[in-house]
Amino acid sequence: MSIPLPRGLRELTPRVHVWLPDGHATWGMANCVLVTGQDTALLVDTPYTADMTRHLQELAEQVLPAGTAIDTVVNTHGNGDHSYGNALFPAAQIIGTEANAHHLCAEPAPAELAHLVASSDPDSPLGAYVRRHFGRYGDFGGVPVTPPNRTFSGELTLDVGGVTVRLLEVGPAHTVGDLIVHLPDEGIVCTGDVVFSDDHPVHWAGPIEQIHRATLRVLECDPRLVVAGHGPVMTPADVRVYADYLLELRGAIHAGHAAGRPLTEVSAELIDGDSRPHWGLTERMAILAAIEYRALDGASTPPDLLHLVDFAAGFTVPAGGAPEVVSVPDVS
Ligand SMILES: [Zn+2]
Repeated sequence: MSIPLPRGLRELTPRVHVWLPDGHATWGMANCVLVTGQDTALLVDTPYTADMTRHLQELAEQVLPAGTAIDTVVNTHGNGDHSYGNALFPAAQIIGTEANAHHLCAEPAPAELAHLVASSDPDSPLGAYVRRHFGRYGDFGGVPVTPPNRTFSGELTLDVGGVTVRLLEVGPAHTVGDLIVHLPDEGIVCTGDVVFSDDHPVHWAGPIEQIHRATLRVLECDPRLVVAGHGPVMTPADVRVYADYLLELRGAIHAGHAAGRPLTEVSAELIDGDSRPHWGLTERMAILAAIEYRALDGASTPPDLLHLVDFAAGFTVPAGGAPEVVSVPDVS
């Protein structure tokens, strides 16, 4: 199955271009942002696979002045769909938060994820779900996990050939190590996955209060445009709607927990009562609820990511349901 990729980068300002793959209602198609300065360039996040990354590199060459290379990569967080492509920037400085580097090590490696897709029971909810959403990525191009080679905590300001780039740590939120990228002279913020555009949220660290706080941090930068981790470019008004939605969900989950209701029941109610059916991946609300329950229960161990995906998959694919994607990579 081929992956539909953008035919070009979209110009937001003369110095900022965005790669916007169509990732609606599926996993892994994350946005990347190219910042071009004098004789140098910076890329916010790298794609999920080697092929996707090479494709982005070709498109970047079309907009970069001759002789200008991507010397700096920033990872907004440690999920593979924002960082597996790091391996294709061997000469670059790769920046992430200190906490991000730790998270990256907890994420399933590309080969492990490919193996899971190939070996899981296609008739199980998890097997059907991972085939549908991850089967297209094959073996990810065999990329090794390449963590940041420069880390920081708090805030870091870069001068990228005359363009000011502020990196603001906002985690734990979506993951333990999130940052947002503020381009003050361009009026742009890149949020990573503390904000999703047109899809339901999923978070691995939380709790929701932290994610809400991160969205407020985005708005405090007073941007003109916001590039979420996935989906179309947003306005600040869109982010405000998203922030309010997070509080709505938080209220419903906390009420369920306070009433002693089981997680499965509260998750099903959130999904059935979805107030934004045009957004994709409704089932991810089950993960959101599970993470919130863990926080309310005082869980101190890191969550099992695959267990959470399995839990969400149970709300989408009936046992014995046929997967939509049947081509599975050979990873033997
Ligand atoms: Zn993502």
